[in-house]
Amino acid sequence: MGQKRVLAGYEPAALFEYFEDISAIPRGSGNEAGIAAYLCAFAEKTGLEYHTDALHNVLIRKPASPGFEAHPPVILQGHTDMVCEKNADVAHDFLRDGLRLRVDGGWLSAEGTTLGGDDGAAVAMMLAILGDEKAEHPALECMFTVQEETGMDGANGFDWSLVRGRTMINLDSETPGVATVSCAGGATGSIRFSAEAQPVGGRALRVSVAGLAGGHSGADIHLGRANAILTLCRILSETAEKTPLRLSSLNGGNKSNAIPRECDAEIAVEDEAEARAQIAAAAERISNELCAADAGFSVKIEEASAEDALSAKDTRRILAFASLVPNGVQSRTPDAPELVESSSSLGVVRTEAGETVFTVMPRSSAESRLDLIIRKISLLAGLLGAQADFVDRYPGWEYAPASRVRDVYLAAYRETTGAEARVEAIHAGLECGVIGQKLGGMDAVSIGPDLRDIHTPDERMQLDSFAETFALVKRMLAML
Ligand SMILES: [Zn+2]
Repeated sequence: MGQKRVLAGYEPAALFEYFEDISAIPRGSGNEAGIAAYLCAFAEKTGLEYHTDALHNVLIRKPASPGFEAHPPVILQGHTDMVCEKNADVAHDFLRDGLRLRVDGGWLSAEGTTLGGDDGAAVAMMLAILGDEKAEHPALECMFTVQEETGMDGANGFDWSLVRGRTMINLDSETPGVATVSCAGGATGSIRFSAEAQPVGGRALRVSVAGLAGGHSGADIHLGRANAILTLCRILSETAEKTPLRLSSLNGGNKSNAIPRECDAEIAVEDEAEARAQIAAAAERISNELCAADAGFSVKIEEASAEDALSAKDTRRILAFASLVPNGVQSRTPDAPELVESSSSLGVVRTEAGETVFTVMPRSSAESRLDLIIRKISLLAGLLGAQADFVDRYPGWEYAPASRVRDVYLAAYRETTGAEARVEAIHAGLECGVIGQKLGGMDAVSIGPDLRDIHTPDERMQLDSFAETFALVKRMLAML
């Protein structure tokens, strides 16, 4: 006998068995060969037609069940890759080790690591439907994409001419009772300031901003949380108006898609006491503007050992950029002002080898608004003598005024739970944007089980909601 199954006894058994099976297969982004081989072997064993490609995307087709032959085909879709995060004290090799599943109070998690419920839940649901001979559905195209978490390269690289359906249920959302029906597109910009450092005459200080709440640079952008890079640059700008200050280095943020929580700078000053007083005064003014979530805000000033610094002029160019770069909510959806339409977020700054490089991520569900923000940032960079480059652009998914799959979702949710579901637009990327652009004429919703703290070692999935979402998908298929 093999190891005892953690999810033995949960119903429907096949759904939980598939989830447990795939949890044993390492599948971080870029490492999807193993899970693709598993999916292809499943298709072989069940006699289903399948396609795979060099990226390890997998498409498995299942014919319509009796009576559904004349219905248009339906695409089910999710990504096979997962974010690999672990607690520092946990020994886990994401290239070799399976996840150690654990159930606690009706929630499934993995010991010390991400669970990969995002988006293993989708993989298990698709397998359970493909393997269920009694399920009622139109012809199915189950699409397992790769590298969603690192830029949607799988959805981008797949040959979508193989796909016949235009009705899609994406299974990559995290809140039961809520269907996502629109998402933002975006791009990543690098703004590069080259400047030569010169020897420092006076004293050097290190100024650090910490304790801010941060958050997702799209989904949390409307919350008004402070950006650590902009906050520190503002403190330095206001200080520089009162006493000479030159920048040696500026480093903050870790990810382009997160609101930075920390930033520090080394600066050269002529009057140390005055600089310290001005920095403290600016920090005090700013602390009065912050939202409650940012109550942990702190500014620390220490002696530093920087031996060179940029000229006063180059310092002004860099601080001017941080003062003027579009940041935060830029526009709201016309006629639906509760929905953020466009935003921009400065995510990272690094000083290295004579260059200070800012990373900024503009987003919009409307392509023309995304163009506008990119143009503004590029113009500003040009005026300040910096080089701006935008890469990794991905399309948004615009809200469709009429959608059959959305109507079917709302009706099926009412039928299976007795409650009313809601629809939402998310201000972040989903593969639906990329796929919609490739397919043309797509009608889609994105749904999923109750997943919390995704992309962290605290990721967990509520087991009842997993079974309920699976039942909902089956009900939707029977109505489509
Ligand atoms: Zn996901």
